[in-house]
Amino acid sequence: KASVMDGDNVDYEEMEDALEKSKAKSAFEALLEERKKLPIYPYRDELLKAVDEHQVLVIVGETGSGKTTQIPQYLHEAGYTKRGMIACTQPRRVAAMSVAARVSQEMGVKLGHEVGYSIRFEDCTSEKTILKYMTDGMLLREFLGEPDLASYSVVMVDEAHERTLSTDILFGLVKDISRFRPDLKLLISSATLDAEKFSDYFDSAPIFKIPGRRYPVEINFTKAPEADYLDAAIVTSLQIHVTQPPGDILVFLTGQEEIETAEEILKHRTRGLGTKIAELMICPIYANLPTELQAKIFEPTPEGARKVVLATNIAETSLTIDGIKYVIDPGFCKMKSYNPRTGMESLLITPISKASAMQRAGRSGRTGPGKCFRLYTAYNFHNDLDDNTVPEIQRTNLANVVLMLKSLGIHDLLHFDFMDPPPAEALLKALELLFALSALNKLGELTKVGRRMAEFPLDPMLSKMIVASEKYKCSEDIISVAAMLSVGNSIFYRPKDKQVHADNARLNFHTGNVGDHIALLKVYNSWKETNYSTQWCYENYIQVRSMKRARDIRDQLAGLLERVEIELTSNSSDVDGIKKSITSGFFPHSARLQKNGSYRTVKHPQTVHIHPSSGLAQVLPRWVVYHELVLTTKEYMRQVTELKPDWLVEIAPHYYQLKDVEDSVSKKMPRGEGRA
Ligand code: ADP
Ligand code: MG
Repeated sequence: KASVMDGDNVDYEEMEDALEKSKAKSAFEALLEERKKLPIYPYRDELLKAVDEHQVLVIVGETGSGKTTQIPQYLHEAGYTKRGMIACTQPRRVAAMSVAARVSQEMGVKLGHEVGYSIRFEDCTSEKTILKYMTDGMLLREFLGEPDLASYSVVMVDEAHERTLSTDILFGLVKDISRFRPDLKLLISSATLDAEKFSDYFDSAPIFKIPGRRYPVEINFTKAPEADYLDAAIVTSLQIHVTQPPGDILVFLTGQEEIETAEEILKHRTRGLGTKIAELMICPIYANLPTELQAKIFEPTPEGARKVVLATNIAETSLTIDGIKYVIDPGFCKMKSYNPRTGMESLLITPISKASAMQRAGRSGRTGPGKCFRLYTAYNFHNDLDDNTVPEIQRTNLANVVLMLKSLGIHDLLHFDFMDPPPAEALLKALELLFALSALNKLGELTKVGRRMAEFPLDPMLSKMIVASEKYKCSEDIISVAAMLSVGNSIFYRPKDKQVHADNARLNFHTGNVGDHIALLKVYNSWKETNYSTQWCYENYIQVRSMKRARDIRDQLAGLLERVEIELTSNSSDVDGIKKSITSGFFPHSARLQKNGSYRTVKHPQTVHIHPSSGLAQVLPRWVVYHELVLTTKEYMRQVTELKPDWLVEIAPHYYQLKDVEDSVSKKMPRGEGRA
C-alpha cells in the first residue's frame, strides 16, 4: 500500500525488487529475441521430434549454431526434465562454466539453481538443478556413484569431435547403459561433419544436421615461414587494427604464458601509439583465467574500439565469441604426448591439423564475410599438417581411466568397446603402473588400496601418495601438499619489477633445502596460521586466488579422506614421513644425479634437469623424486624433493631392486649420456 508520494512510507526494498524484476524481465526478453535468431531455432520442433523417436541421436552443426546453449533448454521446455536432469558434457572447464552462466541468464534463473555446472573441485549445482553442464571427466566420475546414471533423463555428449580421453570412455559407458535404460536419451553432438563415425559406433544412430549460416572467409598464408609466430601474431593484430575495417580479432595461441606475453607486448605497443589509433581492447581467455575475467570476452565491443581476443584452442569450437571478423592462426597448439615405452608424458607445442585450421578460419565468418591470416605457408598447410588430430586416447597415459574402469567392474579392458582403441602397449603400461602402486593385484584385480585411490579425482600417483599417508600418520600434511600441487604453477607471484624481492620471499620457504613439496606445505601452513590473510599473501608474493583454490581443494580432499576412512593426522615435524608418503606415490619418478649436474631417471634412463624455479636447483641432491616433467629448452623436473635411495627399495620392492639404487653405480657409469 506504500505509494511513492508517501515519503517516509516508501518501501524501497519493494521498489528495488520490482525494478530488478522488470530489468530482469526485459533482459530476459532481449535474450529470448537473440535465441530466436540462432541457426538452430527453426529446427526446434523437428529436433524434438527426432529425440522423441530415437533413443540415440547424433547432432551436427557448425560452431555457434546454438547446440550447447539451446538443445538442453528445448528438451527442458518439452518436459524431459520431469523425469530427471539433463547432462551436457564439455571437454573444457571454462566452457562448462561459461555456457552454464549464459543459459542461466537466458532462462532468467540464478546460476547454480535450475542451471548449474560441475567441474573438478567445484560443484555449482543444487537440489533444484535440472540442466547440468559438466566436464566429461566429471560425468565419468559420476558413474562411480551411480552406474546407471539414474538421475538423468538425457545425456548430451557435446563437442564429441574433440575426442578427449574422457569423452571416448563416456561413449563406451553410455552406449552400454542405453541398452538397459530405454528411457535414457542420448545425444552426441559435434561441430564437424564426419559424424558417420559416431553414427556407426552407436549402432547406426540417425544424424540430425543443423544447416549453419556461413559467410565466405578469405584465407591468407604467409609467403615464407615465420621464425617467431608470437611476434608475427602481434604484428599482424596491430596491422589489422590500423588498416582494416571494424570487426574484432581472434588470435589462437598455445597457452597461458604465451597469452600473457602477447598481452603485455600488445599493451606496450598500443600505448606507444597513443591516441593515434582507436582503442584496442585486449581480452585473454584460457583454462585458468579467473572466473570474474572470463565474462569480459563476451562483452560487446564499444563503438569505435576493437577487441582482440587472445585465446587457446578453447575458442576453436567450445566457445563462440560474437563479432569476430579476423582470425590469426599461427598453426600451433599445446598437445599431450605420451611415450608408452618409458611412461613419460609431456605437453608439447605441436602443429595443428588441417581440420583444426579450418575450424579456426571458420570463426571469422560467422556473422559476415571474414578473413583468416595463417602464419604459415600454403605449402606447410598442404604438406605438413595432418588431416585430423589424433584422439587423445592414443597419445596419453591411461592409468587414470584404467583405475576408473576397474572400479566400475570392467575388467576386460582389451575388449572394451572403444571407438578407436588405445595402443595395447599403453594399456599394459597403465596396468603395470597400477600394479606397482599396489592398486591392482597380480590378477589385475582392484585392491583395497586401489579402491581407496579411485575415490580421489586425482592422478593415481597423487591418490596413492594420499592413501599412503595413513601409514606415516601425516594425512593432514599430505592433502595440503596434494592441494597445492593441484593448483598448478600459479602459487608464487613474480612481478617483473620486483623479481629479487619475490625470489627472496620464495626462498624463505625453502630454508633447510626441504624440497619443493615441503616448501609448498610451509606456504600453506603459514597462510593458515595468519588465518588465511590476504595481506600475508601480498607480503610474501603469493597469489591469494591460488591459495583460496588450494584451500577449497584441500577441504574436499579432507572430505574424501573421511569417506575412505583415513584419519586426519598431522605430523609436520616428521619430514621424512611426509617425504616417504610422497615417494610412495611418486617412486616411478625418481632420478639420480650425474657427474655433470644433470640427472638420470632410474627406471627408464633419460637425462633430465631440475627446473630453475625449484628450491633445489642449486642444491643438486644425489637422489630426487619429482612431480612432473616439462619439456621447454630441456627436459625439466618440476616440484622436486630429495629422497634416500633405500626408501625406494623399502617402499617399492616389487619395482626397484638393490642394484637399481646402489650409489656406486653412478661412478661406474660411462661419462656422457644418452643411450636412452
Ligand atoms: P554451439 O554449441 O552450436 O557452438 P552455442 O550454443 O555455444 O553454439 O552458442 C550460441 C550462441 O550463444 C552464440 O552466438 C554465442 O555467442 C552465445 N553464447 C554462448 N555462450 C555465451 C556466453 N557465456 N556469453 C554470451 N554469449 C554466449
Ligand atoms: Mg557448443
